[in-house]
Amino acid sequence: MKLVFASNNAHKLEEVRKILAPLEVLCLRDIGFVGEIDETGTTLEANSLLKAQAIWNWLQEQGLATTVSGVFADDTGLEIAALGGAPGVYSARWAGEPSNDARNRQKALCELAGVQDRSARFRTVITWINQHTVQQVDGVVNGHMATEESGNGGFGYDALFIPDGYDATFAVLPAETKNTISHRARALHALRELLLN
Ligand code: IMP
Repeated sequence: MKLVFASNNAHKLEEVRKILAPLEVLCLRDIGFVGEIDETGTTLEANSLLKAQAIWNWLQEQGLATTVSGVFADDTGLEIAALGGAPGVYSARWAGEPSNDARNRQKALCELAGVQDRSARFRTVITWINQHTVQQVDGVVNGHMATEESGNGGFGYDALFIPDGYDATFAVLPAETKNTISHRARALHALRELLLN
C-alpha cells in the first residue's frame, strides 16, 4: 500500500514513516510535486483538507492517482489554555512570516511570562482522501508549557512542551516516547485503523 503524505517536512516524515511502518509513505518530493499550498483555512480541519485535496487533485491531473492508495495531510496546532487556545491553527506563523520555530517558541515564552496556568495541548487533524472517500481523524496530547526551552530533539514547539505524565519536554524525551504518545502518533494510529478497516 503506497500512501502519499502531503508534506516535505523532514521531521514529520520521519515520525510518520516510523509510526506507519511497514506501509510505504511517499512525500511530495517523491511524487514530483514542487508547488506551494497556501494554508488559508481558519481551522485545522480546513487546512488539513485543503492540503490533502490539493495533492489529490494534482495526482489526478498528472494521471498518477491510480498509482497510489490515497493521500493524507496533517495540520497541527498548539492550543494554550491561558491564551484562549492560541496560537491554534496559526501556530506555524505565530511570530510572523516567514515561519520560524525559534521565534515562535520565543513568542510563547513572552506571552506566558508570569502566567501560572501553563496548560496546553497539541492537536493534529489528518485528512485521508482517495477516489472513494474523504475522511478525517484527529489526535490530542495534553501537557503544559515549560518556563524555558530544553532539549535538541524534535522540532517546532517541542523544546517547550511537557506532556502529561512526564517531567521533560518532547525535545528531551526519546523520539520513541514522542512517537507513542504524541498528537500526531494518535492521529496516525487512528488513520491506520481507518485504512485497515
Ligand atoms: P503544521 O501542521 O506543519 O502547519 O504545524 C503548525 C506549527 O506547529 C508549526 O510551527 C510546527 O513547527 C508546529 N508543530 C507541528 N507539529 C509539531 C510537533 O509535533 N511538535 C512541536 N511543534 C509542532
